[in-house]
Amino acid sequence: MSEPTRIATGDPRYEDFVVRGDNARFAPRPDAFVLVRSTEEVVRAVDDAVRDGKRIAVRSGGHCYEDFVADPAVRVVIDMAAMDRVRFDEARQAFAVEPGVRLLDLYRALYLGWGVTVPGGSSELVAIGGHLLGGGYGPLSRRFGACSDHLYAVEVVVVGADGRARAVVATADPADPNHDLWWAHTGAGGGNFGVVTRYWLRSPGATGGPGDLLPRPPASVLASSTIFPREGLTREALRALVGSHGRWHERNSAPDSRYAGLFSGLVLFAVAPQDDPGIGAILFNHLDDGDDAEELLGRAVAEMTEGVDAPRYDLPFERRPWLSTMEKLARAQDGENGRHKIKSAYLRRGYTDAQIDAIHEHLWGDDHAFSTATISIQSYGCAANAIAPDATAIAQRDSVLRALYLTSWHDPATDEANLDWTRRLYRDVYAATGGVPVPDERNDGCYINFPDVDMADPAWNASGVPWQYLYFKENHPRLQQIKKRWDPLTVFSHALSVQ
Ligand SMILES: Cc1cc2nc3c(=O)[nH]c(=O)nc-3n(C[C@H](O)[C@H](O)[C@H](O)COP(=O)(O)OP(=O)(O)OC[C@H]3O[C@@H](n4cnc5c(N)ncnc54)[C@H](O)[C@@H]3O)c2cc1C
Repeated sequence: MSEPTRIATGDPRYEDFVVRGDNARFAPRPDAFVLVRSTEEVVRAVDDAVRDGKRIAVRSGGHCYEDFVADPAVRVVIDMAAMDRVRFDEARQAFAVEPGVRLLDLYRALYLGWGVTVPGGSSELVAIGGHLLGGGYGPLSRRFGACSDHLYAVEVVVVGADGRARAVVATADPADPNHDLWWAHTGAGGGNFGVVTRYWLRSPGATGGPGDLLPRPPASVLASSTIFPREGLTREALRALVGSHGRWHERNSAPDSRYAGLFSGLVLFAVAPQDDPGIGAILFNHLDDGDDAEELLGRAVAEMTEGVDAPRYDLPFERRPWLSTMEKLARAQDGENGRHKIKSAYLRRGYTDAQIDAIHEHLWGDDHAFSTATISIQSYGCAANAIAPDATAIAQRDSVLRALYLTSWHDPATDEANLDWTRRLYRDVYAATGGVPVPDERNDGCYINFPDVDMADPAWNASGVPWQYLYFKENHPRLQQIKKRWDPLTVFSHALSVQ
């Protein structure tokens, strides 16, 4: 049996493993990183760590927004970077994908090889390992749902009550005795049940050759960009812009919407990008190209900006092949390595005027921290909502938008100021519901791939609603039962893991 590569403190490679993560706030410093190349090596690495009584964390792409991997209590980090193969598995009639593959590499392999893809996020460097475990959304999610909606089977190294590691395969087949473990891997987040060593991807009910077994993206995409200068976005103008964008999504996000092929992002800037400090907001839209695409896109942009009395610059529509569009979008999103704090929310309806006013007060006030800070309000709904809330671990199945609140900075001395600013912004947006998006007629909790430990802190979550409900809703008790069965010794845990 081959041996995994151990990189312990003092090894010249150690510091390179420390900085491989995306969020400089959380640099892991375990006793050793263990670079694995096969399922057998993962079994060996987990066995060794459990025997030595060392807490384990798993890292695929290193893009976790919280300290789930870098927690000082973690003494062994199992690094999946070298397990990054993508192939078609004839026996299982599904794409076998290893967790270390980065998203753009995965899209290239699936699309250039077979003309298919998964509807994942627009990031170059996030790995499918952590991404799919939390759901994984991107520009194609209104057409095809989340990445995890296309999970057919998963291989996981788990630890039994006897403390021994073993690899098990769990499938979407309800007759599979391990079916519950598959279900737990369809959106409950990483680091909960074991180490994923392989995914098999195939859309539910799909038959035919490899080119029929996963979604086919559009050959090309028509994109629009509208820029709103910062000074023109008064309180009233922002109400109109955010309000119209929200109402458009309320009207056009049913599973059978003719706008299922449209993905929209309205990005509001607190501190504008350095290359253009005059920007207050950018509205971008991507639409599957087709005969009536120009007309449909024109109409959508007009409706999303209806009633906005502010200067604007509409860039000419741009038509690009699909993969090239993903490459462009992903590179724009993978900002510089820095220090980050993220918060998220699902929106069943657009923001209220009171919420938009809170956003304006913080983003346009002079009270902000010294950083880049954005609220990105992105399309959700359509196919993502055509699945029952208990069919997979993703409980949020009737929202029309998802919002992410992201603050980034470089100087560790400003950590507290930036965290405090981000926390106050979010608390004030959700002032009516205890500072968090408590599931009700407007909100539907938070997205576990944008984890936020403040949800477990009564100082910032004054709603009385436990953080588990915000992320997992009614699916949480089932996740707990599965946890008890598959991780009885609680070998895998972090600040927001299923307990
Ligand atoms: C720049 C950036 C852009 C993003 N864009 C999007 C987007 O467009 N859409 C979207 O939905 N999300 C997006 N995300 C969120 C992203 O999906 C999550 O951060 C995801 O968990 C990262 O996965 P990773 O493997 O890169 O990170 P890691 O830090 O390696 O892992 C994240 C979590 O999953 C666990 N984990 C990782 N691999 C395994 C494994 N093999 N087995 C068990 N547990 C594992 C880790 O222990 C950790 O808890 C983005 C994040 C960043 C930083």
